[in-house]
Amino acid sequence: MNKIVDLLNGSMNGKIAEIRGWIYRIRSSGALCFIVLRDSSGIIQAVGSRNTLGEEKMKDLVSLTIESSISITGTVRQDPRAITGYELDISDFRIYQRNENFPITKDKGEEFLLDMRHLWLRSREMTSIMKIRSTAFKAFSDFFYSNGYYQTQGPMMVSTATEGGSTLFKLQFFGEEVSLAQSSQFYLEVMMFSLEKVFTIAPSFRAEKSRTRRHLTEYWHAEGEAAWYSNEDMMKDEEKMIEYIVSEVLKSNREDLELLKRDISKLETVKAPFPRIRYSDLIKMSNEWGMSLKYGDDLGADEEREITVHFDKPVFVTHYPEALKTFYHRPDPESPGEILCHDLLAPEGFGEIIGGGERIWDLNELLEKIKKYDLNPDDYYWYVDLRRYGSIPHSGFGLGMDRLVWWICGLESIREAIPFPRTIRRIKP
Ligand code: ATP
Ligand code: MG
Repeated sequence: MNKIVDLLNGSMNGKIAEIRGWIYRIRSSGALCFIVLRDSSGIIQAVGSRNTLGEEKMKDLVSLTIESSISITGTVRQDPRAITGYELDISDFRIYQRNENFPITKDKGEEFLLDMRHLWLRSREMTSIMKIRSTAFKAFSDFFYSNGYYQTQGPMMVSTATEGGSTLFKLQFFGEEVSLAQSSQFYLEVMMFSLEKVFTIAPSFRAEKSRTRRHLTEYWHAEGEAAWYSNEDMMKDEEKMIEYIVSEVLKSNREDLELLKRDISKLETVKAPFPRIRYSDLIKMSNEWGMSLKYGDDLGADEEREITVHFDKPVFVTHYPEALKTFYHRPDPESPGEILCHDLLAPEGFGEIIGGGERIWDLNELLEKIKKYDLNPDDYYWYVDLRRYGSIPHSGFGLGMDRLVWWICGLESIREAIPFPRTIRRIKP
């Protein structure tokens, strides 16, 4: 059995090949039947003729429909007019399933395609996006493995909120109300005391009530935490990681990017170091671009879109005002009211893909923050204990993998970047 891609490089020209897959397109004209077959590796046109196959077999072939499954044996022939440069002259075939009409046809609306996601994922666009996603997940892990990090896992059912109560998904846990994890950060901080540098890739759950093109209610969160790291140390690992992931995609998925009509030159400039801009300076810059932001305003999806069209490389925004960040972020001793943190904003209007920074490591400072944010210290007893026994400076980050794929692929909505998107209005399929 051959993969289609191996028929397209010349080495099989004139030879007999056997491929199997699904019918992507089919048409017939008189004595010939043209089938474009797809498998996970690509597409090729196969040609059946009545002369070779005979009347009966030809009838079987011609009456097949889109997405029917079939294996085909034939001779590979170079043909510059063929869609992928080669054709297969069919000598025999076996039908696995003959379909009824495939429900997805041209010009279907977005909601229909989302309802039909289980079938739409077979499309060439979705296949390319999912291949890029696969590369990105591998590259993320590879990068951290080769930089001395250990992979670990936190629980998904938790009793403490990391990012505030408004986006918590509640669930019943044997009579107790608990929630789904918004982040694995606190558990990574625990693991850091034995492993020092740790990462995880896990789902995070956020009951996002607004509909933006960058929020899911369940997303894949790639997080890291590193002992002895400053905010700047953390940014250095992150920018190298992003550069590495993008370079791996450029290496392994060039054809996929082309199929998605992604402007590849925009990815080729993604090289560390990335600029660092303080939040206060970004506000000034945004005013020069005609935006009416003032110091203290949060940057939402719309603001970040307007800001990042001015960038051609990802940028770190640092030193957000304390009021904009959750309780565990460490204030900058040299800049009162500001936090030693960073968001990484993807260029071309995409916006935030990473949030990170230094964590408070002084016991009393953390206890005061917990009080100030009106949280119950009992809920956080184990998180506080980390500051009681051998506390150390440390930093961490969270990268939204779906946002990363959304940006790398240059997609309209983050929903395209994940196989089964969960949003405020979607839990199927
Ligand atoms: P935003 O301001 O866009 O809501 P956030 O500040 O809530 O993001 P963090 O809590 O810092 O995000 O989470 C870390 C990363 O997780 C973000 O940088 C982003 O890449 C990703 N992320 C956060 N919320 C979502 C979501 N609802 N859907 C997809 N990815 C998300
Ligand atoms: Mg948010």
